[in-house]
Amino acid sequence: MAILHTRTVTYSPAYTIVPTYECFNRCNYCNFRAEPGQSPWMSLSAAQNILRQLQNQKVCEILILSGEVHPHSPKRQEWFERIYDLCELGLAMEFLPHTNVGPLSFAEMQKLKHVNVSMGLMLEQLTPALLNTVHRHAPSKLPEVRLQQLEWAGELQIPFTTGLLLGIGETVDDCWETLAAIAELHQRYHHIQEVILQPHSPGTQQTFDASPFDPHQLPEIIAKAREILPPDITIQIPPNLVKDDQWLLACLEAGARDLGGIGPKDEVNPDYPHVQEQTLRKILQSAGWELVARSPIYPQFDNWLSGELQTVVKQWRKTLATNFILQI
Ligand code: SF4
Repeated sequence: MAILHTRTVTYSPAYTIVPTYECFNRCNYCNFRAEPGQSPWMSLSAAQNILRQLQNQKVCEILILSGEVHPHSPKRQEWFERIYDLCELGLAMEFLPHTNVGPLSFAEMQKLKHVNVSMGLMLEQLTPALLNTVHRHAPSKLPEVRLQQLEWAGELQIPFTTGLLLGIGETVDDCWETLAAIAELHQRYHHIQEVILQPHSPGTQQTFDASPFDPHQLPEIIAKAREILPPDITIQIPPNLVKDDQWLLACLEAGARDLGGIGPKDEVNPDYPHVQEQTLRKILQSAGWELVARSPIYPQFDNWLSGELQTVVKQWRKTLATNFILQI
């Protein structure tokens, strides 16, 4: 049994809802954003129609992923309420929401905790050097602002997903420093459930003229990350950005154990379609790995949720375990 356990890789059966693509930042590797005012916001009735179609389709997680409205914009309150309402709707329709919408105020995070089972924000890289390059026009990418989010998530006991973006102009030492900062915060709050290692993969919309991050370097980064991060943090890699099957398997051998949300579209990397679950399962099986679906909250965090949320999570674990879809 122990051998089987160590050969397990998880993924989250997910669907991404985008309240709006508009974003006041201009990260020059972005393939997601639209100019403020150029992206209609998703209405609750449109979301309800989508969610209705997803019921009985083995989708557990609703990832709420949004472009950002400036914290001082008169539209900020409306933007936040739309996100809150979409989460509430997802829960009412018995999905498990996970929100990742950029830096939030402490009060905003506190409110969203009531309607999310977990939340996330990529740390990307902490080196301030990127503020002169890829993040020159992205005030939300101030390293201290993002670190603050991770700290607040810890204080609020929000199970949290973060990660690094690789190949945007950082050095390898920058990567180790960013991982060490995550490890340090986790040792204080014990709230980081996953760290994503996301290789920069050029898309058709971006202006950043750089090669893709070489996936052949990933296993080495994963192995070092495994040394730096506490063992209870899972390392996640996006399989659609590691195209070669052998290198995907090498990433698992190096210590990655999760493949993130798998759904119809990768909204952040729209030029790289998700590899579907059956295909992944076959690739993994060829090397003795078992692909297992998981919920967007790891079980060790269940007691951080309100009683109401715990009931929905418990229901998911029971229903899906019975159907052999969800194992944790
Ligand atoms: S990467 Fe995120 S924060 Fe940067 S421009 Fe794109 S949507 Fe905005």
